Order: sequence, then C-alpha cells, then structure tokens
Amino acid sequence: MERRKFLFTLSAIPIVSTFGSITDKFQYFTNQKRNNNTMAKFELPQLPYAYDALEPYIDKMTMEIHHSKHHNAYVTNLNKAVDGTELEGKSLEEMFGTISKLPAAVRNNGGGHFNHSLFWQIMKKDGGSAPTGKLSEAVISAFGSFEKFKELFSNAAATRFGSGWAWLVVADGKLVVSSTPNQDNPLMDVADVKGTPILGLDVWEHAYYLKYQNKRPDYIQNWWNVVNWDEVASRFDKV
Ligand code: MN
Repeated sequence: MERRKFLFTLSAIPIVSTFGSITDKFQYFTNQKRNNNTMAKFELPQLPYAYDALEPYIDKMTMEIHHSKHHNAYVTNLNKAVDGTELEGKSLEEMFGTISKLPAAVRNNGGGHFNHSLFWQIMKKDGGSAPTGKLSEAVISAFGSFEKFKELFSNAAATRFGSGWAWLVVADGKLVVSSTPNQDNPLMDVADVKGTPILGLDVWEHAYYLKYQNKRPDYIQNWWNVVNWDEVASRFDKV
C-alpha cells in the first residue's frame, strides 16, 4: 500500500464513523439496555429432578432433549416474540386470556413455556399411585372412580390427533378432562374447555418417540407411574 493511501485510510474511517453515528450509537445502547432487561423475563426453569429420574418410564435422553432443547427453544422464541411490544411485562396468564388476538409466535411459544413448566412439576421419581384427600373425593365425584378418570384421560391423550396435550381441568368448580392441539391450553380463550389445568400430559412425538416410537398408548400407560399427585393436589387446592 502507498504511504499516502494508508494514512488516508487510517484517518478517514474513524472520522466518518464518529460523525455519522452518534444518534445510531445512542439508539444502539438504548436497545441493548432494553434487551438486557427483558430477555431475562421468561427463563427456562430447572427440572426438579435429574434427567434420569423418571427411568424406566421416560428415558434420560428424551428428558434431556425435551427440556434443554425443546422447552429452551420455546422460552427463547417467546422472549423474541414479546420483546419491544406492548406485551412486555405481561404474565402468560394475561396473554392467554386474549391469545386469539395475539401473534401465533406468542400463542405457540407462550403455550409451550407454560405447558412444559407445568409438565415437569406434575411428575416425580417414584410417583404414581392415586390422589388422596380432597382431590380424590373430587375425582370420584366427577368421574365415578379413579380408574374411570384414568380411562377418560388416557383416551383423550391417545385420540388427540397430531401434536397436543391432555388435561385435567378445574372448570367452573368442576373437574373435567380435555385435550388441546399444538401448545394450546385451557387458559387460552381459544380452548374448547376453559379453566385451570392441574394435570397435563404432553403427547407430542418429541415427548416419547425415542423410547416408544409410534406406540403412544404405551407411553401414556407408563406415564401414570411418574405422576406427582401431591403436586396436582396442591394445584387443585389453589384454584
Ligand atoms: Mn413437549
């Protein structure tokens, strides 16, 4: 490079960039600050147990991918969808109430984040058995028996076409079994059965395919062995 040209290059570039972008830089730092504040709004929760805790019913690799990849992606994409919009700072429950009027990315990823956060909590190592106390009485009152409830719920999970969830919902003070497509849930204004979900089962293929392949009914049958009925009862008490 010639000396003259070299000096021109060294001096010209900084001058141009300094004079040309003071407002741009201010805007940039404002945006950075806002992003830093809001990107932490929704966070991937830790699992309340190890990835292998639900073996042999739900395998370690499925749990690890499901939590660290799938759920994590819902959280990341939810933050992207909400950041810089009027939804910033709103709770998921608030958004679900008018979800039919919000962007699909908020519905899919907000639902994904909420549903999975519930799903991890209502399972545990050495779970299963049956509910006790008030919840047990409410199940018998609504469905006739615990076995009948399991049959209805398993059927809702098995017959949900494509990807979705089965739910036990408190709707108008009563227990109801329902299912929703995709990442919808009973808190959303689009749900057929609206209410508070206290138990949910993920029947997306990513939830079971590594271990069960196309045998969704086997996954459902085995899943009853890891249900955390204390957690479900606690959610029922709070409705
Ligand atoms: Mn899932």
